[in-house]
Amino acid sequence: MIPKLNLKDNLKPEYLLFLDALAKTPFSGEIRPDFASRLMMSTDNSIYQILPQAVVYPKSEQDLVHLFQLAQQEPFKSVTFSPRGGGTGTNGQSLSPGIIIDCSKYMHQILEINLEQGWVRVQPGVVLDKLNAELKPYGVFFAPSLSPSNRATIGGMINTDACGQGSRIYGRTSNHILELNWVLADGTVGRSHAINLYTLNHLKQQPNSIGHIYSQVNEIVTTKQKIIEQSFPKMPRFMTGYNLAKVYSPPEQTFNLNWLLAGSEGTLAIITEAKLKLTPIPKYKKLLAIHYNCFNDALFAAETLLAFAPAAIETIDEKILSLARQDEIYEKVKHFILGAKAINLVEFSSDDLEELAQKLTRICQSITLNRNQPQQPTGYYLAQNETEISHLWDLRKRGVGLLGNTKGDRKPIAFIEDTAVPPACLANYICEFQTLLNAYQLNYAMYGHVDVGCMHVRPALDLKVPQDEALIGELSDKVVALVRKYGGVMWGEHGKGFRSEYTPTFFGELYPDLGKIKAAFDPDNRLNPGKIVAPNASYNEVVRVEAPLRGHFDRQVAKEVRSQYEVAFSCNGNGACFNYNPDDVMCPSAKITGDRIHSPKGRASLMREWLRQLAINKSEEIEKSGNFTLKFWNNLTKIWGSYDYSHEVYNGMHGCLSCKACASQCPIHVDIPSLKAQFLELYHTRYLRHWRDYFVGNIETLANWQSHAPVLFNFLTQNFVTRWLIQKFVRMVDPPAISTLTVRQGLKQRQAPVFDLEKLSTLSKLERANSVILLQDAFTSFYESQIVLDTYDCLRELGYTVYVPPFFVNGKTLHVKGFLKTFQAIAQKNTDYLNQLAKLEIPLVGIEPSIVLTYRDEYIKIKGLKASFRVQLLQEFLWENQARLKQKIGDRISESYRYYLFGHCTEKTIALNSQKQWQQIFQMLKIPLSLVATGCCGMAGIYGHEAEHYNESQGIYSMSWRRQISSDVEQRKFCLATGYSCRSQIKRFDSFVPLHPIQVILSHCKI
Ligand SMILES: Cc1cc2nc3c(=O)[nH]c(=O)nc-3n(C[C@H](O)[C@H](O)[C@H](O)COP(=O)(O)OP(=O)(O)OC[C@H]3O[C@@H](n4cnc5c(N)ncnc54)[C@H](O)[C@@H]3O)c2cc1C
Ligand code: SF4
Ligand code: SF4
Repeated sequence: MIPKLNLKDNLKPEYLLFLDALAKTPFSGEIRPDFASRLMMSTDNSIYQILPQAVVYPKSEQDLVHLFQLAQQEPFKSVTFSPRGGGTGTNGQSLSPGIIIDCSKYMHQILEINLEQGWVRVQPGVVLDKLNAELKPYGVFFAPSLSPSNRATIGGMINTDACGQGSRIYGRTSNHILELNWVLADGTVGRSHAINLYTLNHLKQQPNSIGHIYSQVNEIVTTKQKIIEQSFPKMPRFMTGYNLAKVYSPPEQTFNLNWLLAGSEGTLAIITEAKLKLTPIPKYKKLLAIHYNCFNDALFAAETLLAFAPAAIETIDEKILSLARQDEIYEKVKHFILGAKAINLVEFSSDDLEELAQKLTRICQSITLNRNQPQQPTGYYLAQNETEISHLWDLRKRGVGLLGNTKGDRKPIAFIEDTAVPPACLANYICEFQTLLNAYQLNYAMYGHVDVGCMHVRPALDLKVPQDEALIGELSDKVVALVRKYGGVMWGEHGKGFRSEYTPTFFGELYPDLGKIKAAFDPDNRLNPGKIVAPNASYNEVVRVEAPLRGHFDRQVAKEVRSQYEVAFSCNGNGACFNYNPDDVMCPSAKITGDRIHSPKGRASLMREWLRQLAINKSEEIEKSGNFTLKFWNNLTKIWGSYDYSHEVYNGMHGCLSCKACASQCPIHVDIPSLKAQFLELYHTRYLRHWRDYFVGNIETLANWQSHAPVLFNFLTQNFVTRWLIQKFVRMVDPPAISTLTVRQGLKQRQAPVFDLEKLSTLSKLERANSVILLQDAFTSFYESQIVLDTYDCLRELGYTVYVPPFFVNGKTLHVKGFLKTFQAIAQKNTDYLNQLAKLEIPLVGIEPSIVLTYRDEYIKIKGLKASFRVQLLQEFLWENQARLKQKIGDRISESYRYYLFGHCTEKTIALNSQKQWQQIFQMLKIPLSLVATGCCGMAGIYGHEAEHYNESQGIYSMSWRRQISSDVEQRKFCLATGYSCRSQIKRFDSFVPLHPIQVILSHCKI
């Protein structure tokens, strides 16, 4: 039985007092001192882990004023704060032991778009992709880009001065800031933009923090002009953060504090609003994927390619390309990259199509001419449309995440990953870099922005091993020396964070002046202390690269346990699971709650800490369940509010829909439903289950029983009183009605052949070739029997003899609820049976995607289970046997109407071709079918029926499905859905039941 887990990381008294006092001010945001919330903020995408004291989520600038005014009071002078956006920083910029101010949860509004003057005003928490999606219809965009654009926020981008692909022509975030609003650590509100010298003089006179800031900065930039000029290297990826070189603009005679604030990593002020420049979207874009034999050939080609003046050149090495081959992205790009060992993605953009075409012709001719010569490209692919372009950029964007899939304990990690040198020196610099890493016999991955001299290099290390940990400091020092030799900077893209110890090396004589600037903005070192510089410029007060690492925590868990719960440890925090896009399947629970606890990363973090706590408690025999009395007592203590960290993990897991988007969409395939099942099984060794779990876990068996007397059961479950009782006592809502025409009756009416294994084994080869075994599942068989019968009819129309074995339980719901042992026993029994069926050499086909894919995913993950069967989805079977369909349908004229397919999320993510296959089948039948991009429908089997999840389920549905489902009753006839859950959800929130695609095919077969 698992022990009770009391934590020792209690809040410091001054923080407790501060949070209590804050709750009494008009602060309207959320205050979260719970351990799970703190844990969420203890990591980003870096190698570090620092537990903060609490998290606050402000809702407005005024909230921050209340917070900082309170913090000025004497008892709270030691309380410190670090702002945070999407938490995608790669160097621990937002990690701190104080209070985290998360601006992403509530402060994410786009406030004003002014097309005439070409600007947009936003709050700091808005995600870049969301902003650009809003701007797209107006033909403009916010130009600075970065790989995690679907989760990084504008506040974070400003504070790291982010940039990425396209920076050669668009520059960095700082090049696009018009105005910033901010709050200082003393609660003063400020606004900065380019001002003339008259205004500067006026502001300097103010007898407050603002006046002091302007005076101090002006003094430095006027008295240190020469040294400033010498200290800042002149290259595309300039040294950013406290960018003294740009504060004063002699030609324009302006002075602009925003150059200091951009890249200051939350050490000077909290940004509360930003007015940003808009850029017209170029009318035409073209992307070439140029293939090479090796990374160095791609690297050396950059100089030649630059002569064609592209908008961007990005290099991807062999390591990432080979990892991509095992990822979902590969299907989309395989024809564009073929067997290349390295590629350069070269983008051209222009408003002049002819000019663009000429450029492309020249470059393609040059490639063809030199193809296969030493160091020359081996080929190229010119992306044909926007979709292909976006798939190729997606490959580049997923690259970093994919590195986490590297086999073995050593994984490529970020700590020297964004050095930049003048582009002309890049190739030689990288050769020396490679020599350095080779000397340590380290594997590494390289990719990045060759056009601007910034290369991402990630050596593979296992930071759970002290010897590898020691290399962090050693290698960092050597890379600093190398990058200085080439006149570059250590932080070409991702900011300083825990690499702040190198700030003095790069700023040299100016370092004390950085301290003066910090002192003017934040004299008491309250904002993100330790990062970049301290107010007194004391080197000892800045953080070191050898700060507390996540590896320190992970290594406390025994190796065997780590491998048993591998997914929890393999999450590298890249945050792809915080995807904001409502029409993307990734993590519906994170989207609807806005709470990081309810994301795959959050759940993996909770689990890692849980395993660590079990290790600290030296827990043994945790799998042995406590007896009923003991569990009953433990439940009472839970009701009485006795703390156990396991409850926090339980709450995180309970919010998971088990939609499985994470299992495939996360680049590391962090499969939370499996982790959740493992956790629940152990959690309930100590605590009793709610009796609903037994009901839900066994719903397949119950539905089977109910199907023997559907009218009676529907009478009992579908009236107002019993529904109320079910909601009250079982905490279930909207129980579905059992189909009154059962599959058994329907098959009998059709005189379907009896399923007799022995007889089937005597079928001739020809008979087997004309047969299909249609497996039943509880959802379609008992709640939507017509779909099973229509499938039967459709397969019959295609000339098959269809055998339908008696229903058997699949176990999916038992897995969802963590009855792992029972699930494994059922899976073993079914596997034996299905292995037997497989020997018949008759295709096995199932209708409900979530059930079919359980055979293919959860089953095969069971240790020792040997499955030699393959259950196909309907569309997979039809596509493989398309000749029959063609023969049956013959020559038809194209239909004038169009169907819309709303796919099931598990199906879309686990069977990657499944949607396309439906489309291809429909295309063959000359029936136009569009695939609708949607997120999760919010039902996910059981989740949407659980009373406590009803509102969230509805919210998830409204985010994506409701928006995309036509309100026109006539049009709704063309809406198709493959999942039982999805159809049920549409029925309850939009009051109609969409057809299954097989029903459309059947209707066309019959014509
Ligand atoms: C897979 C991956 C790829 C990446 N690729 C790129 C890339 O191509 N280009 C690039 O530039 N970066 C890249 N990064 C790094 C990271 O995404 C950027 O640094 C990004 O700008 C951080 O944004 P965020 O919202 O996640 O900020 P966070 O990580 O939360 O914070 C970053 C810094 O901003 C500060 N901050 C946040 N909000 C505020 C505020 N309102 N006021 C004051 N300070 C604030 C924080 O204190 C912190 O110092 C990548 C990261 C990952 C994980
Ligand atoms: S769960 Fe996956 S996508 Fe999310 S942070 Fe972890 S590795 Fe990245
Ligand atoms: S299964 Fe779905 S809801 Fe659960 S963590 Fe994964 S993506 Fe989120």
